[in-house]
Amino acid sequence: MTARLNLVILGKQGAGKGTQSKRLAQTYKIPHISTGDILRAAVKAKSPLGLEVASILESGGLVSDDLVNRLVEQRFLEPDAARGGLLDGFPRTIGQAEALERILGHDGIKLCINLDVPVELVTQRLSSRRVCQECGAIYSDVDVEAISGTCSVCGGDVIQRADDRPEAIQKRLEAYERDTEPLLKFYESRGLLESVDGSLSPDDVTRAIAQALHARGIA
Ligand code: AMP
Repeated sequence: MTARLNLVILGKQGAGKGTQSKRLAQTYKIPHISTGDILRAAVKAKSPLGLEVASILESGGLVSDDLVNRLVEQRFLEPDAARGGLLDGFPRTIGQAEALERILGHDGIKLCINLDVPVELVTQRLSSRRVCQECGAIYSDVDVEAISGTCSVCGGDVIQRADDRPEAIQKRLEAYERDTEPLLKFYESRGLLESVDGSLSPDDVTRAIAQALHARGIA
């Protein structure tokens, strides 16, 4: 059996985690596990979970550790996660990082990649970000006036996420600084942290991540 490859990607909202995660998941043939995507799908489907978390997501607040920990634990029981997974948007608090160690075991995580981007740049990226409501394609740094509103991948509606509006962006970045930034020390102290300059072009970031993985003998 091939060894499991579990990776965590950290970075402020708008640092490029979604884009890089999709590429990494494809390269290493592991599922892209985004708790934000799972929660947004539940909201869209109006499932009991979706109804419970809808207003929290819209305001840019965090849902409870217990709830997301359970979601992630269940996700790792699915067959496609037998090879591991690329975690995006989880963990977001020390409590979640500790839960992840319980779920995967102490040496379960191979590496935590931190996409380092200044706050001014992510604020600008988030305000001009649009996403396809159907397939999740991300349109970054768009000319908001010029965009047609139709996804070039699937023809779905391209929209601004409610939590990419200014008040929610502010709240999400504050939550990041307060709750998620301490995870950098958490993973650094375990020798598992690699920081990459996330302000480079997407292709250059992908190359820098590949180099970091290669240097550690992961790929
Ligand atoms: P994201 O797409 O990762 O920015 O997540 C969108 C929203 O989903 C967040 O603003 C939170 O409301 C919620 N969310 C996603 N992941 C988590 C998590 N690990 N812990 C708490 N809330 C989360």
